[in-house]
Amino acid sequence: MRSPLVWQGPIPSAGRLLIEAEPLELMDRHWQDSVGKPESGGILLGYRRGDHLHVTIASAPQKADRGWRYQFVRSARHHQEIALRHWHASDQKIDYLGEWHTHPECQPNPSATDLSEWRKICRQREARMVFVIMGWGGELWTGVSRGVIVERCTEISF
Ligand SMILES: [Zn+2]
Repeated sequence: MRSPLVWQGPIPSAGRLLIEAEPLELMDRHWQDSVGKPESGGILLGYRRGDHLHVTIASAPQKADRGWRYQFVRSARHHQEIALRHWHASDQKIDYLGEWHTHPECQPNPSATDLSEWRKICRQREARMVFVIMGWGGELWTGVSRGVIVERCTEISF
């Protein structure tokens, strides 16, 4: 069982990131802990409160997604439909906050492709975004954006 995680971005005065246990557990189910397991991923949904991001939902990989050991291509349309459904059902409060995917490494780090993809998303949206990479032991890389720069968060305790 996971506990919710609270992260602080590199600027202490800026908002925090809270990821609930449920999305973490969904991502845990896709660890690449054996050679045959491909990368998988999805989108992150939740609430924006000022600069704070509260992730309550991670979308599961969709049938139309394509995953290889070192690459993952998301079916944008299917994940957008999931986002839209939650947005309507929540009276337009649950927003698209970012993306997650797995890496076949214990301590994940963003690749050059990840960073350029994320920059593209940040350019398209004029809002703070969150990006998560899940390693095969449950260790996460998490970052939030400031403009088009994505910076690593550090875990904080209450
Ligand atoms: Zn990656």
